Amino acid sequence: MHNNIEKKAAFVSGGARGIGREIVRHLVAHNYNVTFTYRNNREAAESLIQECDGSVLGVLSNAADKDSICLAIEKHITQFGRLDYLINNAGINRDKAFKSLSYEDWQQVIDTNLSGTFLHCQQAIKYLIETQGSIINIASVSGLIGVAGQANYAASKAGILGLTRSLAKEYASRGVNVNALAPGFIVTDMTDKLHERVKEQVLGSIPMKRFGSAKDIAEIVTFLGSNSCNYMTGQVIPVDGGLSV
Ligand code: NDP
Repeated sequence: MHNNIEKKAAFVSGGARGIGREIVRHLVAHNYNVTFTYRNNREAAESLIQECDGSVLGVLSNAADKDSICLAIEKHITQFGRLDYLINNAGINRDKAFKSLSYEDWQQVIDTNLSGTFLHCQQAIKYLIETQGSIINIASVSGLIGVAGQANYAASKAGILGLTRSLAKEYASRGVNVNALAPGFIVTDMTDKLHERVKEQVLGSIPMKRFGSAKDIAEIVTFLGSNSCNYMTGQVIPVDGGLSV
């Protein structure tokens, strides 16, 4: 039984915490039904489901695993009957000096960030063609300018940019827009664990002299999913307080 099939529906990977959680909240506030995935944090997922009262489906799913992603997209379609907007947000970092970076550190980050984005896009594309929908891939300023100590993370995010531009060209004629956001330093658990000294250094290089919030990203993601952005595809939008300028 489809719940309210006339309502637009979005799918957000990694939506229980941080930027993804704020994206889910914003989309629900803009009248979307939303499926979000989570991998570890059931408590955060349950509190979000409760908060969004009937408009969201939370699915335990690993962004690095093809079968798990197929199942999550199937559950979304069973629940909401359509897919208008895919937001590839799930991501991890394993920051280390290059000499200490193990192959496992490399592989885990590539599998989750880059292969996960590829797999979600591939599973979702036929549904997005049906609705003339859109995809936003959450990349990073690291993928634009590179960051010492983030060779694996920066490579995964730079890969997302190539994937975004290629899919944009391949699917423009089928009515699916594909764009990427490249956030700078956003206050979440991911950046919370950084040493205060590193945070001060980063802050010094941000022209706006402040870190971004998850809300700064969620507002743009919501705008990019709206009809106001119909004529835009293949673009990478930095949201970084000027860091990449
Ligand atoms: P957080 O660490 O706060 O949250 C990451 C989210 O991704 C969590 O919801 C987590 O789920 C989920 N996740 C991680 N691995 C998997 C997986 N294998 N399968 C499913 N879900 C997974 O990170 P942010 O909110 O800061 O980051 C969100 C995105 O934004 C990431 O892609 C990140 O690279 C990108 N970004 C962040 C920046 C920042 O400064 N914070 C800057 C630039 C880009 P769970 O809670 O269940 O573990």
